[in-house]
Amino acid sequence: DEERRLNLLLIRYADDRSLLVVRDVSQLMRLEQVRRDFVANVSHELRTPLTVVHGYLDMIEPEQVPEYEPILHELRNQSRRMTQIVEDLLTLSRLEARNDLPQERISMRPLLEALRREAEALSQGQHTLVVELDDRHDLLGSTKELHSAFSNLVTNAVRYTPAGGRIMLRWQHDADGGARLSVTDTGQGIPAQHLPRLTERFYRVSTSRSRETGGTGLGLSIVKHVLQLHQARLEIRSEPGVGSTFACVFGGERLLEPLALAEAP
Ligand code: ADP
Repeated sequence: DEERRLNLLLIRYADDRSLLVVRDVSQLMRLEQVRRDFVANVSHELRTPLTVVHGYLDMIEPEQVPEYEPILHELRNQSRRMTQIVEDLLTLSRLEARNDLPQERISMRPLLEALRREAEALSQGQHTLVVELDDRHDLLGSTKELHSAFSNLVTNAVRYTPAGGRIMLRWQHDADGGARLSVTDTGQGIPAQHLPRLTERFYRVSTSRSRETGGTGLGLSIVKHVLQLHQARLEIRSEPGVGSTFACVFGGERLLEPLALAEAP
């Protein structure tokens, strides 16, 4: 009487025989749901105590406890880190629970400008920032989620590119009628064997170095989920010592004529 999920695979051989493989994946899907609920509940439960810890730590002035100043500093850093991890886990749970997102018209010029300002603030003049934009079309999707996904890629580009490097934000059209937003850096790059696993939760190329940079290891999982909800994909190209390009690739059905042009007589 339970709802069952079946996975069907039809293989047709050259000699006209066929093989139908039916797999019952109901149990797998139930387990996956249990995992999701567990992560969502734990994150939610951790949020309140963390807020309290964070709040009290902020009330202590370093001058009041001069001998503990380095410890206070470290406690604040770590509690901030934990809060960020919990917030990112909650964001992931929220995204996993959704099948669709608001469909809004996103004008790419202001969005890229906002991303450039974010990169500037993070980079503090240590990188050359370049924006290239073909604004033939607007993008259809969730402004908030896409902005946060793109912003993740920009933050990573700044984080993993040494001072003096170049970061390029580009919105360009593809020959197949789609378009892509890409973030290219001249940073440390990523060895090929890591590329397939980069979007896994908590996956990091170099744990110690990534910890220092203050990331949570959840950024690219969030990016992947946001893109999936837009039927878009993440393309990663990278060469160690040369740099990386992270491209969000959208199909033509996600592109809209800009309003000014559409309304012209
Ligand atoms: P993090 O919070 O650690 O940055 P992400 O999920 O955003 O987590 O990224 C996962 C890992 O991918 C990072 O720890 C880093 O090793 C690698 N990475 C991501 N972006 C870049 C980049 N632009 N250049 C080099 N390595 C990157």
